Parts: sequence; structure tokens; C-alpha cells
Amino acid sequence: MSTPNSTRHRPMRGREILLGSLAGLLVVLVGGAALAAYRGGMVANAFHGRPAQPSVVIIILADALRADRLSSYGYTKSQTPHIDALARDGVRFSQAISQAPWTKPSVGTIFTGLVPLSHQARTKGAGLPDSVTTVAESLSAHNYATAAFMTNLTIRPGLGFEQGFDEYIWLPAEDSHFVLNGDKYYQEAELVTARVKSWLAGNRAQRMFLYVHYMDPHRPYFEQPYNGQGYYSHGQGDPAEAGRLGDLYDGEIRYLDTHVGDLIAELKKKGLYDQALIVFTADHGEEFYEHQGWGHGRTVYQEVIQVPLIVKYPGGWGAGTVDEHLVRSIDLAPTILDTAGIRPPATMQGVSLLQPAPPADEQVAFSETDFEGNVARAWVTPRDKLIQVVDGDPRGREAIQLYDLAADPGETLNLAQAHVGVVADLRRQMDRLMIAALEASVAGTEFEIDPETEQRLKLLGY
Ligand SMILES: [Zn+2]
Repeated sequence: MSTPNSTRHRPMRGREILLGSLAGLLVVLVGGAALAAYRGGMVANAFHGRPAQPSVVIIILADALRADRLSSYGYTKSQTPHIDALARDGVRFSQAISQAPWTKPSVGTIFTGLVPLSHQARTKGAGLPDSVTTVAESLSAHNYATAAFMTNLTIRPGLGFEQGFDEYIWLPAEDSHFVLNGDKYYQEAELVTARVKSWLAGNRAQRMFLYVHYMDPHRPYFEQPYNGQGYYSHGQGDPAEAGRLGDLYDGEIRYLDTHVGDLIAELKKKGLYDQALIVFTADHGEEFYEHQGWGHGRTVYQEVIQVPLIVKYPGGWGAGTVDEHLVRSIDLAPTILDTAGIRPPATMQGVSLLQPAPPADEQVAFSETDFEGNVARAWVTPRDKLIQVVDGDPRGREAIQLYDLAADPGETLNLAQAHVGVVADLRRQMDRLMIAALEASVAGTEFEIDPETEQRLKLLGY
């Protein structure tokens, strides 16, 4: 049987080059079925060939942004006009699954195209090992100037996430104007956008790659427009407040949308937008007591692993289309490199979204967490979802859960007892993937956390 390890150490040819090692494993699992449909079939029909290679590549990451709170994803209670405009200029993926429900492992996956079990930045003390190859390293090796703008402590400088970046610009919370109960948490979107604009004003590189990490709408939820009020809790809360907190969260998303719009307007003003590849996504979502909890990191239900994903290709390629295939954060690094005309490293486990999509029965996403005693993993298919909770769930939920996502998108009715055959089949698939991911894993790295950083991390809920 092919494993990531065995494929990694021999030259990959033909179709294998198009497939990351985990996807390759899955092709083996289903007997090497032919790839029937082109990814984004609508795109392939309307837009032949490939997009032009981008002179500017930007990942815009909105921390803790659920897909279902954007009006381009069908939300009606609140509007996000600037992000929606980006969706009209690009391809919107309606089913994008993050490989982890909190920042560090999820961003590690976006940077490397590896699941957290392989890149190993999956616990509070872990870093991103030097031995991984990041998308920034690949782009830097192809003459892109690379810069990251960061204000989330879990990926602060020194943990290995700076690999491949010429500049890894840390935006300390001390400079924020947003204060709640005397504490500052991260720089708000207005300051992040301003910092990126000043970088653009001073940079004349022919090619550039920017990673822009916005922390809104991460907790605390500030009242918007900002007035010094807001709400914060660490994993606790009154269920009766779910509606009010959701409204505050929506306000933060509108605030974020304004400043993402400001960044996009600047790119247009500088003549950089049309030829840019822009990937807009989130590292994870947020709970509002759908499954008796708050925040993120502790479960793998859809509200914390289903993320927005908009890919705006150069020259308007694919503009305005919706791709309904199940796609994953591991696919982002290969997609960026493929669009830039760079062959993704064979070790990457995702598949370029420009390449043929597998048929529905081969579309799968794996997500997992190991966070404050919550150890859970999910195996998501376009229809079914298996959740396995390991070592007991602090919320007392069943160890094995099966949901029919088509009929029960809120994951309310556990069908595991009634469908033992489906459970066994999905578990077998998930176990095989986990073994392969561990076989492909690099050696992990651990970091000391100084008391001040630990205190600040606690403020953020980590
Ligand atoms: Zn996050």
C-alpha cells in the first residue's frame, strides 16, 4: 500500500504530481478510481485553461470567522459587502474544512499543506519544526518578497512560523486602541490594514507574497463601533446570552469587513489587484452554544471547522463561481504554488484546487484537536461525518458520533448506533489516514513559554 512515506521518497510522475500524498492514499483506498470531474466544474466550463501567474499573492486570514456569518455564504442578519465583492471576483468554496479548530495547528496546516499530525504544531508548547517546507519558503525560493503581519500570540515570532518570510512583522497588543476591563488583546483590523499599506508603500518588489492575519472577530467581542464595551469569557457563558454574543460577533465581522475592504481598495489603487492571487479564509470558526460550549478549540463540530474560502485568481479567472466540492486547508499551499507555476513539494498532502477534483465518494476532510483535555477528531465527507472523542469528553458527549450532514447540518442527531456499518467504514478510513499522517510526520519542537506570554495567552483563551 502506498503511504505518504513511500511516495515521498520516490519521484512522483504524471497524475501523482497533482495529488498530495494523503490524497494519493485515498485514491488507493477506493481502488484508484478515475478522477471524473474537474474541480469547480462550473469554472472549467466557463473559464478554460489556467489563470495567469500572479505577481502578488496574499493570504488574508480572519481569525475565528465562521463561514455561515458572511452574507456571501447566505447569512441574512448582517452584511459583509467587501468580502462579498471579493467572492464575486473569485471562486467561493461553499464546503471548506479546516484541519484544526484553533489557530496554531490550523495556520501550520495552511503554511505547509500538512495535517497537524504531520507538521506537529498541534499543542500549546509546540512550534512549527524547521524540517517542514512552507509555502513562504517555496515562494521565496522563486523570487517573491515575503512578509507576514501577525498579532496572534499562538504564532508569535520564534515558534517557526516565520520560516520563508523575509519579514515576519509582529503587531503587539500594546499598540491597540481596543481595551476591555483594562486589558489589550491584539491589534485591531484598522491597525493591521494600516501596517500592510505602509509596507506596500515602501516596497517595490516585482513579486510579493503577503500573509495578513486579522484577529477580529476573535474574543473578546468588542461592541462595534468601538465604545469601550464588549464581552469576554473563557469557555464559559450563559446559554441565554448566545443571541447577544452572536450579535456582538457579527458587529466585529462588519468591522473586519470594512478594513479588509480598505486593504483591497489600496491594492486596486496601486494597480496590484487584478494580477493578484488572493486567498481569503479563516483558521477556524466559533461556538455559540450549539453544542453546549463557547469559543473554539474544544470540539470538531461544523461551527468550528467549517471556514470561509474565497480564491480570487489573477485576471478575473473563475470570477463569481461557486465550487461546492469538499475542500480543505491542506489544499491552500498547493493551490498557491500551482497557480504561481511552482510544483508543490511532493510531501504536501493537499491537492491544488486548480486540478481535477475527485468524485464525491473520494472527497474527505480530516480535522482534530487536542486542547485542554478535549481530544477529538472528525472525518468529514460530503454527506456523513464521523466524530471520535478520545479519553472522555469534558462535556459528556458520546465517544462515537455519526451525523448525516445533508439532513442534519447542525449535528443534533447521533446516528452511530443505527448505522454501525457506516461507522466502521469511516473509522477504518480515518485510522488509515492518521497512521499515514503520523508516518509522514516530522519531529516536533517544544518551546518554553515565559510567564508574561503565558498570562497574555490566557487572556486570549489559550
Ligand atoms: Zn484562531
